[in-house]
Amino acid sequence: MEEYQAAKEELKRTVDIVELISQFVQLKRGGQNHMGLCPFHSEKDPSFTVSQTKQMFHCFGCKKGGDVFAFWMEYHKVSFPEAMRDLAEKYNITLPQKQMTSLEKEKMTLKTRIFKINEAAATYFHHILTKTNDGKPGREYLAKRSIPKEVISEFRLGYAPEKWDGLIKFLKQKKLDMDTAEKAGLIIPNKKGDYYDRFRGRVIFPIDDLRQQIVGFGGRVLDDSLPKYLNTPETPVFHKGELLFGLHAALQAIRESGRVVIVEGYTDALALNMHEFKEVVATLGTALTDNHIRALKGYAKEAVVVFDPDSAGKTAAMKSLSAFLNEGLASKVMILPEGDDPDSFVNKHGLDGFVRLLRQSVPMFDFFLDMKLSQGGDQIEGKVRALEDILPILSQLKNEALRSYYIRHLAEKLNITESAVVIELKKWGTTPSYKSHVQGSREARSNSSVRNQDDQYFMNLLIHHPQIIDRLMNQDLKVILSDPMIKEIFDTMITIYHTEGEISPAGILEKLEKDPVRERFREAMMTPPIFSNDMVEQAVNGLESKVHKIKMAESSIRARQQGDLERANKILEQKRTRENQVL
Ligand SMILES: [Zn+2]
Repeated sequence: MEEYQAAKEELKRTVDIVELISQFVQLKRGGQNHMGLCPFHSEKDPSFTVSQTKQMFHCFGCKKGGDVFAFWMEYHKVSFPEAMRDLAEKYNITLPQKQMTSLEKEKMTLKTRIFKINEAAATYFHHILTKTNDGKPGREYLAKRSIPKEVISEFRLGYAPEKWDGLIKFLKQKKLDMDTAEKAGLIIPNKKGDYYDRFRGRVIFPIDDLRQQIVGFGGRVLDDSLPKYLNTPETPVFHKGELLFGLHAALQAIRESGRVVIVEGYTDALALNMHEFKEVVATLGTALTDNHIRALKGYAKEAVVVFDPDSAGKTAAMKSLSAFLNEGLASKVMILPEGDDPDSFVNKHGLDGFVRLLRQSVPMFDFFLDMKLSQGGDQIEGKVRALEDILPILSQLKNEALRSYYIRHLAEKLNITESAVVIELKKWGTTPSYKSHVQGSREARSNSSVRNQDDQYFMNLLIHHPQIIDRLMNQDLKVILSDPMIKEIFDTMITIYHTEGEISPAGILEKLEKDPVRERFREAMMTPPIFSNDMVEQAVNGLESKVHKIKMAESSIRARQQGDLERANKILEQKRTRENQVL
């Protein structure tokens, strides 16, 4: 256990939180800290804060925060030991190998077992495709799609043969248990209490997460039979609405260009990859969700959604407009010629042709606007209907310049005055998502202004000016604190100070047990200094004199209660003299 603790400390020393989080969130330096859009809640203004000096992150919006391990656990939804293992691997630090007892083996989490069995299944499918006679139909299909060997091996594509128990036999041979395989969605129980393979006669696309573990599979038929795509069902590790095919492979390219291209099919993503166009991901046959967009905005500044004009995906793509606007990720649409999909298009016209068309992408909002306006027709009823569809979306646009641009555009197209659009828009000015966002940030602001100023000053001095800690570690100071959480923090500090003789923000945080109190402390740690160095003395004096005032008033009251009026008056007089001195 000691070795494990040592490895944890080494990781803390090695991993830089800004560098690590930058891999998932676009951070900008702002004063002492780095700021970005929070990956854990929906926001358009950055309140996600990362401190390099404190090696800590904190979101002022959703209050999530902590160290590198806390980030990894929250972002990848993993346990602490898993976060340790991932980070150790990523930063080349050896974790002490613990010999697993049979009990521990049994306890190995279901998720880990599913990853293991998925890995085995991927090996099996890939082997069938590349090395066996059974894989011939799959090889022919991919050859027809001109997907070369390199792409097949990079993405570990596979083939599930037309058999009911091909995978089952393989897994049994490997002594892997059927129960886990069922929970991984690879096999399905039949009425006789036995199992059969879920994927049969399909080309297999393994889907991995950002930790490069296979979370599930997509299977595509070779002909026109239905369903065209069959995915792993929802499992403890497979959530369709959060995953994007190819994201891991595309990450670097997306970061470099600041752009991500989103297509509908696995083969579309692969075809583009084959033409050395790497910044591409595919949805798993679902519409884009808020979760997808929230993850993507961590890497890209702009998303281009590609769809063929005759697909139902067009409507689905338009539904995502609202999510794009809410998450503050710029979105465009690329329209392919009738009858083409990205796969066929890039194979016909090559990378140059694709990039040329990509450059002609239009902002999704413009596209939506024109679509609605043309649907409405020239009649006044149609125009009103179009306006009703457009306004709720327009009201979500936060960028003022863009907003007024579209207001003008809309007024022109509908042949009405701009002020008429503005009046109508005002009715929508508070759509739920927009309203909750504005309220959220206002609440956050008023919350902090309601907070007792002395509490704030005290915490801020403590965190930013450790040289005066001795003076702040005075029991009496507690009388000026009003927030019960700050009082709890104060008590914890006094205890540490008396037992260990010294005190540090990180040390305090470690000792705080309740989550809300930890959040409160993290927030204080991330707040910039209020006092410059030459103002510190004055600030501490101010706090101390307040303490004195309160103490005097208390003893005066006590004296009066005890009937000692003379003493009570004397104390009051002292108090007044002191106040005059201070003034
Ligand atoms: Zn947040």
